[in-house]
Amino acid sequence: MSDLRPPSPAAAIVVAAGKGLRAGTALPKQFAPWRGKPLVLHCVEAFARAGIKPIVVVVAPDQIDHARVLLAGIEGLRIEPGGVMRQESVRAGLQALAGDPPTSVLIHDGARPALPATVIDRLLIALETASGAIPVLPVVDSLHREGSGRVAREELHRVQTPQAFHFADILAAHRSWMGPPDAGDDAEVARAAGLEVALVEGDEALRKVTFAADFSQPAPRWPRSGTGFDVHRLAEGEELWLCGVKLEHTRGLVGHSDADVALHAVTDAVLGAVAAGDIGEHFPPSDPRWRGAASHAFLAHAVALARERGYEVGNVDLTIVCEAPRIGPHRPAMRAALSAILGTGIDAVSVKATTTERLGFTGRGEGIAAQAIATLIPLDEGNS
Ligand code: MG
Repeated sequence: MSDLRPPSPAAAIVVAAGKGLRAGTALPKQFAPWRGKPLVLHCVEAFARAGIKPIVVVVAPDQIDHARVLLAGIEGLRIEPGGVMRQESVRAGLQALAGDPPTSVLIHDGARPALPATVIDRLLIALETASGAIPVLPVVDSLHREGSGRVAREELHRVQTPQAFHFADILAAHRSWMGPPDAGDDAEVARAAGLEVALVEGDEALRKVTFAADFSQPAPRWPRSGTGFDVHRLAEGEELWLCGVKLEHTRGLVGHSDADVALHAVTDAVLGAVAAGDIGEHFPPSDPRWRGAASHAFLAHAVALARERGYEVGNVDLTIVCEAPRIGPHRPAMRAALSAILGTGIDAVSVKATTTERLGFTGRGEGIAAQAIATLIPLDEGNS
């Protein structure tokens, strides 16, 4: 694509010297990974794709080595030490280009990683008739100022970067900047020097990445489902537990734990939904700790594990397969017990029963089978 363009007369400066304390990340924000790559690398690559060079990245003096490693191998890249204030860092970037000055320069905040080529094009076109150009977006919400009422939003713009200028003009403007100590952006510095700054259409994608939430879960997360199936043998002299409810019956289920076949199927469904193995892996029958254990602990463990991975149970549908006892009379108690362990409402839990028409091991009353499906939904950010 860039082969079709004339050689670009524009250079770029990426300002990445801030401490980024608001983001709550271990690294300075501009070096923290976002969608798989450091923020500042996204910016640099966007300029490189648009054929802009050289690209000067301005970082805090103690971050130069780190930046060299993160940005190694990018053609036309230079790393320069910045100052305490943003304006000082931009000036340092401009001074670094002054020896071999480009015609124009795009000055960009390293915390705006998604930089569309269309915005770069609009800025460079605007520079054909103006000393400077900045991307802006309209204010869509109503605005209100305490004490004085509504503010006309038509007069206001949200200002983004990159901001583009004729190089010699903006260099002179930064050199003559007299304060306040820092400038909000380069348009402010340009206007203070009497330069005309044109407005071009910005892009919502260019928003600044600011808070920790921006770094935590970039990819969309979908509901996940899992299935479970289990069988236990019926025998004399055993207790019969189903869904954490003890049923009076002539026989009960045999197993290492309480053999609650229904809870085991639901536990495997929940584990399956988050691809966390199966019940035998988490609670091996060979482990004496689980001898006679109440199976609600297994299900509670699976639910906690799912929460750790960012999911909660949306709903569960369980089918118990047996000729006897009759499940219907116990259904309300079973649903209540299950919903208490799952942390859901009762209406999110379905318990069904069927026979196999006297066929097979369930039909002959040799055992009880259960199968379940669980659908898990991503936890709300504020809910985790
Ligand atoms: Mg089992």
